[in-house]
Amino acid sequence: MSNEKKKRIWRSGVRFDCPDCGLLWRDDIEHAELIAQGCPECHGTLSLVGMGESIVEFAKWYRCVNCEALAMKRRGEIVSAKPRTGFSEFT
Ligand SMILES: [Zn+2]
Ligand SMILES: [Zn+2]
Repeated sequence: MSNEKKKRIWRSGVRFDCPDCGLLWRDDIEHAELIAQGCPECHGTLSLVGMGESIVEFAKWYRCVNCEALAMKRRGEIVSAKPRTGFSEFT
């Protein structure tokens, strides 16, 4: 396999592309994690859009497929989140 190494897409400790296929999480229907009824606003399904690294305590960011609210999961808790650097571009 001589797959060309894909550039990681990340901003401020949050990664927006899938390490398996290189698609942005928001476009990656195969690998993006879903949380049924996870949206803090409308209880819609959340879909993974960003994966935090150690600098942000490995938090994960999700967008609701129903109302497009942004949510964050950290230490097992899902809360509403404000957009961070890169979110308008990549999520
Ligand atoms: Zn993928
Ligand atoms: Zn929602």
